[in-house]
Amino acid sequence: MKPTDVLVIGAGPAGLAAATAASRNGCRVAVLDDNPAAGGQIWRADITRPHHEDPTRGAAIAAFHTSGAALLPGRRIVDAPSPSTLLAEAGGHFETYRWDRLILATGARERFLPFPGWTLPGVFGAGGLQALVKGGYPVAGKRIVVAGTGPLLLAVAAHLRQYGASIVTIVEQASTLQMLPFAASLLRSPGKLLQGAGYRKTLGMTPYQTGCWPISAQGDETLRSVTLTNGRRTWTVECDLLACGFHLVPNTELAQLLGCTLQSSFVQVNSQQHTSVANIYCAGEPTGIAGVDAAQVQGEIAGLAAADCNPLPARLLARRAREAAFGRRLTHAFRLRPEVLKLASQETIVCRCEDVTFSQLKTRSNWTDAKLHTRCGMGPCQGRICGSATEALFGWQPTSVRAPLFPIPVAAFCDEISSLNAPSAR
Ligand SMILES: Cc1cc2nc3c(=O)[nH]c(=O)nc-3n(C[C@H](O)[C@H](O)[C@H](O)COP(=O)(O)OP(=O)(O)OC[C@H]3O[C@@H](n4cnc5c(N)ncnc54)[C@H](O)[C@@H]3O)c2cc1C
Repeated sequence: MKPTDVLVIGAGPAGLAAATAASRNGCRVAVLDDNPAAGGQIWRADITRPHHEDPTRGAAIAAFHTSGAALLPGRRIVDAPSPSTLLAEAGGHFETYRWDRLILATGARERFLPFPGWTLPGVFGAGGLQALVKGGYPVAGKRIVVAGTGPLLLAVAAHLRQYGASIVTIVEQASTLQMLPFAASLLRSPGKLLQGAGYRKTLGMTPYQTGCWPISAQGDETLRSVTLTNGRRTWTVECDLLACGFHLVPNTELAQLLGCTLQSSFVQVNSQQHTSVANIYCAGEPTGIAGVDAAQVQGEIAGLAAADCNPLPARLLARRAREAAFGRRLTHAFRLRPEVLKLASQETIVCRCEDVTFSQLKTRSNWTDAKLHTRCGMGPCQGRICGSATEALFGWQPTSVRAPLFPIPVAAFCDEISSLNAPSAR
């Protein structure tokens, strides 16, 4: 690869803003991302509607491309074999990247909570289904229940509606009372208020039931219905798909592998977005779940700081503080009610890679004990799904992070071995 001053991991809103800022300030910048295109989760390219451009996405990606930073898509960082070196897996072979300054912008993923039937075909993560639809998965005419918690539910429901799905209902586990202060505070953020109003307009008369949650999903080979409750009564609705997620959890594995300190499960950063490790910065959701505006402003600050631009503009610092306050209100409004942590029955699978049930886990004392005795978290997702579930259910903290961070195809090792055996390598 070409020499770089700043290497950015993640081409979502935070990573793009970081790379743009660093590049505009004279650094040679490269951005690596495991997706085939820039955009991250919210701005994931929609192959079915390539001309339907979100103006904020368009502006951010255009600014990135004109900044001179290089995008290296389709590359997943799997290891940090030595200080200042990262190992990426790209299409069945390995690549090594050296960095002087590193910006981690690895985003977040959905939190799943197990309940009877959650592993049935037809039950998706809410954001996961949205991503599939952007990739061409057809939902026109499908009856979909959207459930769980967080503002993502509305965004996903509106998106699915635009693709012709019939949204049976949206069920939000937080109560109206719990969400009221958050909703009222949106009056101070006209942009976010308008976004929410836009979703409501798209959804028309679709019911949005607060203080409700799914307790089971039924079906044989595929989903047929979902049983919902508001704590006082339960009812069952027929549907083809269930899109269900309980807010987001940060992707901190790479930061942990690099030795960055976490604080309350998030990467700890200072006012410059600098982590506890020299020359490593972090921006966006790994530092706190606060939405796209927070990700962008943190990214810009991290990029400027990595480019040694001091002092940082006061308007950016003020914007970051406002967005951080929004994030705190968001977390508080959509905090999990105790009932959703008790949905799993004895037979409910918690670790779906290794088929580990709730009853097998409940006698274990911590994450390591569970891994050793049940193989929980040792399948291909490497604990990304069951880890946050067991943290919510049992309060277990994952103890360590080990490379490779993601499963690696055997082809990459074969490719490596054959390049070592090639005559030029001897
Ligand atoms: C599934 C999902 C769907 C969402 N949909 C919406 C929505 O519709 N509307 C909305 O307002 N908000 C949505 N959000 C929330 C939104 O993503 C955040 O608010 C914000 O935009 C996050 O920006 P970011 O740059 O921090 O992270 P992201 O946008 O998540 O970008 C992080 C990028 O880093 C990449 N990455 C992570 N680890 C590695 C690695 N080891 N190697 C290489 N690449 C890596 C990821 O693949 C990703 O492309 C969604 C979140 C999720 C998880």
